[in-house]
Amino acid sequence: VLSVRNIRRSFGAHAALDGVSLDVAQGEVVAVIGPSGSGKSTLVRCVHQLEPIDSGAMYLDGDLLGYERAGGRLRPLPPRRVAEQRRRMGMVFQQFQLFPHWTVARNVTEAQVRVHGRSREQARERTMELLGRVGLAEKAEAHPGQLSGGQQQRVAIARALATRPRIMLLDEPTSALDPELVDEVLAVIGDLAAAGLTMVIVTHEIAFALEVADRFVFMDRGRVVDQGPVAGVLGEGTSDRLRAFLSRYT
Ligand code: ATP
Ligand code: MG
Repeated sequence: VLSVRNIRRSFGAHAALDGVSLDVAQGEVVAVIGPSGSGKSTLVRCVHQLEPIDSGAMYLDGDLLGYERAGGRLRPLPPRRVAEQRRRMGMVFQQFQLFPHWTVARNVTEAQVRVHGRSREQARERTMELLGRVGLAEKAEAHPGQLSGGQQQRVAIARALATRPRIMLLDEPTSALDPELVDEVLAVIGDLAAAGLTMVIVTHEIAFALEVADRFVFMDRGRVVDQGPVAGVLGEGTSDRLRAFLSRYT
């Protein structure tokens, strides 16, 4: 579904991504772990085209992201085409970023109507189905401010799912939550994983990552320094840096 090939992204002299490659297959769940500042958010932000890359290439279902070939050269896609590509991905942020003055239902419905041209009735039907899936059907007419952080994040997940993305990108979806609200959000993400959704999850919830992910990617200083099936994360072959990182979390 997703292929990231040797991408670089620098801020001044600092390489936030220093040649990162990543492949995510259909139905696969990849956990991206690593210390603060290692480039995890920058990676998912680049994939979602919230940030440009300096070099390398990214493909979604074989389509080059952000560029088109024109006479042997690469040319940036017009914004309309970039927007179309971005809509094939669902993104969930640490801060839920719901519209506070809209109801829960409208937060989930709006993009379906405006962007995908679904009728209000169709969109509403899908919204209620998704709110049911994240356990919030009864909150459809509430406003985000009336919900707990965990509930708001579940709405944000429903919103990201509403347009049937090919892949979900989640950047520390539980790290803004009070500890007692983390599990309800992890449970929803676990359900999505079990249902076969393709996902890239940046998380510090190592135990959770090991449970739901198929594969882990360990980043340090802008590079992927270790990766493999989660079953092997504590195995023989892991790097000293990953061991040191994990010993702080497990
Ligand atoms: P955390 O676990 O704390 O969220 P991270 O792995 O997500 O960290 P990034 O946010 O991707 O790390 O940042 C990678 C590096 O790039 C850091 O050194 C950071 O300071 C730098 N960086 C990220 N965004 C910017 C920016 N907009 N301007 C300048 N530097 C940035
Ligand atoms: Mg981050």
